Amino acid sequence: VEPPILTLRLDDEEILAVRAGEAPVALNPDIQLTRPGEVLHFVDSRGDSHSYDLSSLYDEGWRFVHLSVRVGPTFAVQPDALLTRDGGDPDGAFARHEGRGVRLQPFTLPESGVPAEPPGGGLFRRGLHYPGLITNGGVSLLCICDHCRKTFRLQSFHAGFSDLVYLYCSRGLHTLVASSYLPDAPTLLRPADPESVARFEGRLPPCGECGGEFRYLNPLRCPHCKEPYIDFANHPGVREQEYYGNYLYGGTLQRWEPPQEPHPGA
Ligand SMILES: [Zn+2]
Ligand SMILES: [Zn+2]
Repeated sequence: VEPPILTLRLDDEEILAVRAGEAPVALNPDIQLTRPGEVLHFVDSRGDSHSYDLSSLYDEGWRFVHLSVRVGPTFAVQPDALLTRDGGDPDGAFARHEGRGVRLQPFTLPESGVPAEPPGGGLFRRGLHYPGLITNGGVSLLCICDHCRKTFRLQSFHAGFSDLVYLYCSRGLHTLVASSYLPDAPTLLRPADPESVARFEGRLPPCGECGGEFRYLNPLRCPHCKEPYIDFANHPGVREQEYYGNYLYGGTLQRWEPPQEPHPGA
């Protein structure tokens, strides 16, 4: 029997297997969560595993993960899921804003022959957002750190549609937003002027959670090991293209408004 190119397991329990002749294929297994700490493992033909810790889903009260696993013609694997508490009607629950969605970080099987992406890429490059398609705000992102391989969950927001600039903290996964109409605010989709950005950064308060500094080119850091996950400094041109800002799912977005100028003549 031909060995599988992809095996999906929840902890030790096999959910499905895909053989080379079956790709491209889309499979839709429903998974029931029964306890905290369950891990979904996508194991390739070399035995390497992409493992997603589902704890944050369980902790939020979701008990059913309605998975969609697409294995494309080039052996890219795109898993995403709708979440329900009772296992019933996931599409209806999502449409009624009762359910949620989660996109699992895509990856490529060794059969693709494509070299692995360099670490630190943006969310479009990673296949977590698609250019020209708006990601529904009810869909969060289940990411795997390039460095420590641990799972963390991000909530994205479309900075362009909300007229915001976002900056990441120098120390942790903390995010500050401010109006994109403020003087010197860096502009989306255009290279930023370093001197304007420096003036803008100089007015910002320290991070309210850790005292770190908000800088335009700070990376988004893994909350576990603090290594860069979106590494703007090592990926020139990515910063202005990443029009989704992110914060840790369930965390807070720090909002900054400049102090009011004294009224002339006051
Ligand atoms: Zn911080
Ligand atoms: Zn990490």
